[in-house]
Amino acid sequence: MEIKFKPEDKAESLEQLFEMMFGRSTAIESGKCVSCGKEVTRESLRNEISFKEYTISGLCQECQDEVFGAD
Ligand SMILES: [Zn+2]
Repeated sequence: MEIKFKPEDKAESLEQLFEMMFGRSTAIESGKCVSCGKEVTRESLRNEISFKEYTISGLCQECQDEVFGAD
């Protein structure tokens, strides 16, 4: 059988993207980490860069360290 179209996982990844986006903003607003679900406080974030990163990615300090390295 000839394959005419190769299905891409577009729908799935879009869905994941939306979930990530909506879940992310909700988590950030409520001060939770989107990755591990831990509570994130201003004090738990090491510096201004980590603070900024949290407002962008929603990752707590530990998860940021894991993703970006502890530097
Ligand atoms: Zn985390």
